[in-house]
Amino acid sequence: MSSWLIPGLSLRSAILLGLVLGATCGLGINLLGGSALPFVPPLLNYVTRPLGQIFLSLLTMTVVPLVFASLAAGVARLGDLKKLGRIGLRTMGFFLVSMAAAVVIGLVLVNVIRPGVGLSDETRQKLDAATRDQALPGERKPAQFGIGTLVNIVPRNPIRAAADMDMLGVIFFALLFGIGITAIPAKHGELLLNVLQGINEVMVYIIGLAMMLAPVAVFALIFSVTAELGLELLQMLLMYVVVVLLGLGIQFFGILPLLTGALARINPYAFLWKARDIAITAFSTSSSSATLATSMRIAQTQLGIPPQIAGFVLPLGATMNMNGTALFEGVTVLFLAQLTGVELTLGQQGLVVLLSVLTAIGAAGVPGGSIPLLMMVLASVGVEPERIGLILGVDRLLDMCRTVLNVMGDVCAAAYVAKAEGHAPASLAPVPLPAETQDGNSDGALPTRPEAEVKVSPPP
Ligand code: ASP
Repeated sequence: MSSWLIPGLSLRSAILLGLVLGATCGLGINLLGGSALPFVPPLLNYVTRPLGQIFLSLLTMTVVPLVFASLAAGVARLGDLKKLGRIGLRTMGFFLVSMAAAVVIGLVLVNVIRPGVGLSDETRQKLDAATRDQALPGERKPAQFGIGTLVNIVPRNPIRAAADMDMLGVIFFALLFGIGITAIPAKHGELLLNVLQGINEVMVYIIGLAMMLAPVAVFALIFSVTAELGLELLQMLLMYVVVVLLGLGIQFFGILPLLTGALARINPYAFLWKARDIAITAFSTSSSSATLATSMRIAQTQLGIPPQIAGFVLPLGATMNMNGTALFEGVTVLFLAQLTGVELTLGQQGLVVLLSVLTAIGAAGVPGGSIPLLMMVLASVGVEPERIGLILGVDRLLDMCRTVLNVMGDVCAAAYVAKAEGHAPASLAPVPLPAETQDGNSDGALPTRPEAEVKVSPPP
């Protein structure tokens, strides 16, 4: 697919160009004075932030229908409950193991490198001052976690769950809806399945339209962050940022490929490379939810993951499987504890592992979605939740990176489940898109031709 902005340039290259230009211009403006320059606040408030927000909202508005339709159709296509149970267990098993491994890696790194110990009092005061006004605007209240969290997974009203974007509630309803389709007369089941499939395709089409804005929107998103943030905060928190990125790197290049290679019996690096457009979308949007349509499309058309598996694993993963977020939470809790002089015992660190995995499952797949839950983890190990303000300034950069890991973890889980269900390795071969064969463009970027998307398969 080529970009309308610069004819001949593929959409993927145009998005990357937007990313690089946005970061360069933003840093340039920041060096010249940032928000102190008279034209910068209006530029940020009236141009770049609204543009970025419109783009994110365009992607986000498709999430509820997409998750509902793809999950219900995925479950209905699986047919029997035994198969569903088996696939569900495999999926959750992969999610939990990879998330737990991620947090442990994070904790080991913080314990060895101790990034919070080296920070001088002077730097800490400077950080406090620089980030005080970012601390906790209204909606960022620490989340509560308890038996109510579990009970609320069963929504009393699915429409309200959808309106509140309570994704666990939506997922629960979609699973039951899909099971219901297999239990009713085939005539009605087929009709519903076709409608769900249609909704799916329309959502993918809308995402395709939204992605045409991506090069400009990604420029705007990155510009807004770097023009304000600059490099100073980054330098002060350098060791913390390095530890998070190192942990994400180890998980992304080590653990995830190891798991995927061993379980799906494919070359994991070739697989991740083939899925790189998903990573680019995740990096530019910082949102697992907004990346879902891209991952659904690429999983089926480029990676050969069967629709019923992609339709089941990926929507679940976009909400529940967050390797990068779990790792980030673990590192941040320990870092802030070190910074404030709180020593966490091994038992408390075990609690951090558990809570980081649970809260990563509960975090919303939107930019900064894990922050309220992270505050809850901080509070439960005796670190003031308000301390989160210290790292919020660099969070966007870390969010971009951890979201990449979050969504790539979902695709790896889908490859494993596909293999375990007897679809790999043959079906993990690339399936050419009609678009590629027609215009010779194989950049595999983002959807414009909904007719090339998910195939409707007959109901069981
Ligand atoms: N932005 C992350 C995601 O969408 C969630 C988070 O860690 O804040 O996957």
